[in-house]
Amino acid sequence: MITEKYDVIVVGTGFASSFFLSRFLARAPAGARVLVLERGEKRPHRWQLEDGRSGRRLMQREARASFVNASPEKVWAFLLGHGGSSNCWFGNTPRMLPEDFRMRSLYGVGEDWPVGYEELEEYYCDVEEAMAIAGPSNDSPFPRSRPYPQPPHRLSDVDRLFKRAFPGAFFPLPSARPTVATSRRPVCCANGVCMLCPIDSKFTVENELFHVYEDPRVTLRYGATVQQVEVEGGRTATGVRFLEAEAERTVKGDMVVLGANAFFNPHILLRSGLSHPELGTGLVEQAAKIVRVDLDGVDNFQGSTIATGHGYMLYGGEHRRERAAALIETSNRPDLRNGRGKWRQVVLLRVVYEDLRQRENTVTVDPDDPRRPRVTFTGHSDYAQRGFDALPSELERLLAPLPVERILVPSQPVDTESHILGTTPMGNDPARSVVDRHLLHHQVRNLVVLGGSVFPTAAPANPTLTLSALAVRAADHVTGKAAA
Ligand SMILES: Cc1cc2nc3c(=O)[nH]c(=O)nc-3n(C[C@H](O)[C@H](O)[C@H](O)COP(=O)(O)OP(=O)(O)OC[C@H]3O[C@@H](n4cnc5c(N)ncnc54)[C@H](O)[C@@H]3O)c2cc1C
Repeated sequence: MITEKYDVIVVGTGFASSFFLSRFLARAPAGARVLVLERGEKRPHRWQLEDGRSGRRLMQREARASFVNASPEKVWAFLLGHGGSSNCWFGNTPRMLPEDFRMRSLYGVGEDWPVGYEELEEYYCDVEEAMAIAGPSNDSPFPRSRPYPQPPHRLSDVDRLFKRAFPGAFFPLPSARPTVATSRRPVCCANGVCMLCPIDSKFTVENELFHVYEDPRVTLRYGATVQQVEVEGGRTATGVRFLEAEAERTVKGDMVVLGANAFFNPHILLRSGLSHPELGTGLVEQAAKIVRVDLDGVDNFQGSTIATGHGYMLYGGEHRRERAAALIETSNRPDLRNGRGKWRQVVLLRVVYEDLRQRENTVTVDPDDPRRPRVTFTGHSDYAQRGFDALPSELERLLAPLPVERILVPSQPVDTESHILGTTPMGNDPARSVVDRHLLHHQVRNLVVLGGSVFPTAAPANPTLTLSALAVRAADHVTGKAAA
């Protein structure tokens, strides 16, 4: 037992916890006492580079060992340790569109979010500033109150053809890989190996938010795996139980904040006796198909980062009543074509489909080893499948601006989109959601749940900007600064 008592106990040090803490500490009094429990280690960027492949493999092994994959054909990707998956993410940072928050009202599918785009807009801006996002301020699909902090990346010639043909539906992709050096990070070098950026250019928790863990009000413990929130009378969180070097420990706190990701948040809540029909069900991930297009006479790869263009040609519209929308990323990673004189005449399009929560895709407590979540994934929804099925017939219109020589459409989606969502959904109705619009647990009002687990739907957009904005908003709320 750690005898001291804390004002706040935060679990995890990924995007969600770190953005929450950065705003919380900006608002909290000088004497606030915050404990952060992180199950992994601090593996600095320099260590990851020096240790090269073996270090990364060790991190991947640790992540795989942390849960029981009951559907081994489904791949899941994340890293544990300081900064969570900011150590391996790519840094693509679109916002969700206003209609993504209103799927039930507009299209009769999924759920409406209890928060609208307008309420989140200022928080999107704050997180974009903190990450120094490079994006198109004057030509953006998202209604914006502030410009992007950095100009967008340079498009490729293929992107320019798309842009000319679809001016209102094709844009430079917003990215946490800078176009202008910041005080801590150089300009992206466009080498296409973003999972471990060799020059520490993309945003990570370590390179831009580490200061929150150096704040004198914060005590950070590594190797502390939280197992359970202690809840008194089913209504009040009084602390957490965690494992440290195999020993079970307890610590007391006035508020508990879970930022452990969409596998571990529901696992911790289930072990805390907080059962709910929506808790741990509805695990969802977007699904992508990578279409390869061989070109006749147009070279690719003039862009200034790994993925340069964003196409919304298969996104908005009434078709979302019946089948999934998709967001298209154009790849600028130099995957050359095998053919003399045609090395650069190829483009890979990542077509990312939204999906809906499915009850049968679950995170539960493993009966043989209750310390680990058991993850079951039976497949994507029929809604996503109908989106995939429509793709071949949509390609003619989509690819009309390009001089196409050959198109290859895979039969299956990629094995993971690396976005784990939906296992503690947010909503206004306590019977149908686990947390409220401020990410407070509906019954335990001093328990906050952050991250992709709170997403009630999985829009095509990459989720991290949105989950970080929600975390900042939650911190404003608990410190009494946000609108109700
Ligand atoms: C290869 C890859 C590429 C990606 N690219 C993009 C991208 O381009 N754009 C995008 O938007 N998203 C991307 N993502 C997804 C993005 O990384 C996640 O959305 C994001 O990391 C989620 O943030 P989080 O803070 O909720 O969780 P995490 O980053 O998973 O952090 C969770 C933290 O909690 C800790 N933790 C877990 N369990 C416990 C416990 N029981 N006790 C204590 N600590 C615990 C972990 O060690 C970690 O520090 C990518 C992911 C991967 C794997």
